[in-house]
Amino acid sequence: MKIRELFDQKTVFSFEVFPPKKTSSIDTVYKTLEELEGLTPDFISVTFSAGGSGNSALALDIASKIKESNAVEPMIHLPCINYSRAEISEVLAELDKRGIENILALRGDINPDIPPKKEFRYASDLVSFIRERGDYDIAGACYPEGHIEAEDMVADIHNLKRKVEAGASHLISQLFFDNDAFYRFQEKAQIAGIDVPIEAGIMPVTNKSQIERMVSMCGASLPAKFVKVMQKYENNPEALRDAGIAYAINQIVDLIANGVDGIHLYTMNNAYVARRITEAVSSLIERK
Ligand code: FAD
Repeated sequence: MKIRELFDQKTVFSFEVFPPKKTSSIDTVYKTLEELEGLTPDFISVTFSAGGSGNSALALDIASKIKESNAVEPMIHLPCINYSRAEISEVLAELDKRGIENILALRGDINPDIPPKKEFRYASDLVSFIRERGDYDIAGACYPEGHIEAEDMVADIHNLKRKVEAGASHLISQLFFDNDAFYRFQEKAQIAGIDVPIEAGIMPVTNKSQIERMVSMCGASLPAKFVKVMQKYENNPEALRDAGIAYAINQIVDLIANGVDGIHLYTMNNAYVARRITEAVSSLIERK
């Protein structure tokens, strides 16, 4: 099933998982998956290494496992910067074999230790390449506060438009904690003529190191009310987790009330947190 079709029917609600580190067993992710599938999200996306960490085979296995469950549709992330056209074609052939038709086409982060292969420069190059090769559902990433390398927001939106014109039929946003930043971005995208559905990326922050890592990686701004809550409970792990869950639920309630196309929950492979959030918001999901 092509995920794009779901946006015509309802507010889409999806999860993201990542393959385990080399030192952990894949069974731990499979156990998490079982719990997540029980929450019946519209799809589960699986991250894929841009190169270097060697977990790409595991990403495919996890996506296959989701497909085999017949309960939830998988989406595979596919970063292109460190892959050649031949290598991407091999991955596409593998996806065909496994019946996986939903792809999040990405450039991938540039790793200073890995010289890019230069056959794909931007995600839009990959979108065009995949579009020519078959009948896939292709999504793209977007950045409510601008991509960290973009000259400015206008240039970033302009580039996002190219990605949509190349064939990305829906978008998933980078995580953010300030809904107003997302609404401003939605408005700019609309003015630029980007008319595909945009899912809002929500990350429930449940521990202190996670906040520091995420913010340094993606540059999301932290609203004063978020910082206050995190500071108040930083030395109380249980309270911090509950405050993080409550903050994410508040964000989602506000987004759905404002007619968002979908919510993409960065689960961090934490089924407990995903369950608490899903249970809190499932009655709000709108059907069209
Ligand atoms: P692009 O769309 O190519 O944009 C990258 C930069 O280039 C932007 O600054 C953009 O403005 C600029 N640009 C784009 N097109 C042009 C053009 N034609 N001319 C000039 N400038 C241009 N990374 C992984 O490695 N694996 C994952 O699984 C993964 N999953 C992700 C999931 C989501 C939802 C998101 C938001 C990000 C994910 N990432 C993942 C991270 C992503 O790979 C990085 O953010 C990366 O730096 C940019 O990828 P992109 O696809 O948005 O790139």
